[in-house]
Amino acid sequence: MTPVDAAETARLSEAIEAILRALEVFNRFQGPDLAGRQKSVWQSTLDRPVPQRGAGLDKVLDELTETIIPHGLRVGEPGFSGWMAVAPTTSGTAAALAGTVAGPQRWWIQPFNFLETVALRWLAELLDLPSDLQGTFTSGGSVATLVGLGAARQKALERHGVDPARDGLPPHIRCRIYASEEVHHVVIRAAGVLGLGRRSVASLPADRGQRMDLTELRKALETDRAKGVTPVALVASAGTVNTGAIDPIEEMVELAAEFETWLHVDGAYGLFGKLDPRIAPLYAGLEKADSLVVDPHKWLAAPVGCGAAFVRNRALLGRAFTTEPADYLEGAAWTGEVSSPFDHFGELYHNFNVEQSAPSRGVQVWAVLREIGVEGLRERIVRHNDFARHLASRVKEDRHLELLAEPTLSICCFRYRRPDLGEAELQELNAEIARRLRAEGEYVPSTTRVAGRFAIRPAYINPRTTIAEVDGLADRVREIGDSLVSR
Ligand SMILES: *Cc1c(COP(=O)(O)O)cnc(C)c1O
Repeated sequence: MTPVDAAETARLSEAIEAILRALEVFNRFQGPDLAGRQKSVWQSTLDRPVPQRGAGLDKVLDELTETIIPHGLRVGEPGFSGWMAVAPTTSGTAAALAGTVAGPQRWWIQPFNFLETVALRWLAELLDLPSDLQGTFTSGGSVATLVGLGAARQKALERHGVDPARDGLPPHIRCRIYASEEVHHVVIRAAGVLGLGRRSVASLPADRGQRMDLTELRKALETDRAKGVTPVALVASAGTVNTGAIDPIEEMVELAAEFETWLHVDGAYGLFGKLDPRIAPLYAGLEKADSLVVDPHKWLAAPVGCGAAFVRNRALLGRAFTTEPADYLEGAAWTGEVSSPFDHFGELYHNFNVEQSAPSRGVQVWAVLREIGVEGLRERIVRHNDFARHLASRVKEDRHLELLAEPTLSICCFRYRRPDLGEAELQELNAEIARRLRAEGEYVPSTTRVAGRFAIRPAYINPRTTIAEVDGLADRVREIGDSLVSR
């Protein structure tokens, strides 16, 4: 029989089995990570002109198993603690594959639509959010930030009788978003995308604990009020990406109310930290936020491409991201008795968001939470926060290590030091230590700056990490530092 299409549409189990072995080997993270050193090898195999004639499924599977997967990204490795990257655990991976095959759109009456709703409600329940904070999944924290601040912009300008989503921004209204200098740079980009301009974000000094300085915030708000500037939002970070510091949410909620503006909480990384009872009090006021962001693809270790925004007023969100009516959609489904999945679009997530077609992220979050429950997640969060505290205490005990920020959540910023070295030399030395750690590959943290000082920055969100890797990193930083200094 002649196939109807050049692409294979069957042989799924054969294809999965073919890559499965390679994936299992990959997930053991054995031997050195050669992806960087051997990049010319795999790049030369992959870098071809577009094929005029297809090579067929078997060739694709060969290249996946032999060239691509073995050189894949090893952020799941137990010693990896860099940036905010993590590999998914098994249930989320299985759910993502299931969604790709059996739920390729989140629309219509089917479980992959319904699980968006269920998983968003579960997230709201575990974070103890009030029911009027309604969620929508996004591709990550960047888009979730855009969604939250898009609602804030709508609210701020509707007060002036302007619909910014419909008419754009009038030139006579000057807008400002208020954040600390520690805010994630996607907040600033969101201001650019929303037409407010990146420079409309006031980057206010943080206090000594890297938290928003409330005196500076009030001063900026008052100065701007006197100049007739419209406040669009205050942004509180609930776990900054640099040090994990949590801004004073409760006080910022009060300031937002006083200045009649919006409070947005960026908890992309740190919102799940609320599950740790030792830290939960720092999230006081969260339930009064107007919008907030959390990334299941970080601490929940869902597959990447899974963020969520919760916004207080869904009608407002609908106005901020409305699409013009389209003939191919209107009347294409009806609201009477459902006798086909296609009789109804299900919950219309694309009306509160910037994405039209999208995978179901709900099924991934559902899978992880169904598997481990809130208690399993809490146990992970507490363990990782303990890792940061354990590392901090080791650093404090060692006169050749220096703690640069007391951990709030699961990030510990520290550096190697020698009393006879100046700031510039310490920076150079620690950058070299970090470079060597990456080259060795056993312990891979990232780096940042804390109050201008160069820091080695492990961030523990990786479910595969154990205390042995935490101690291993401290030992190795010490050893590499000692050997560099002695030369
Ligand atoms: C990761 C992160 C973001 C950006 O989210 P993406 O999912 O990478 O787009 C924003 N804010 C904070 C605090 C983050 O940690």
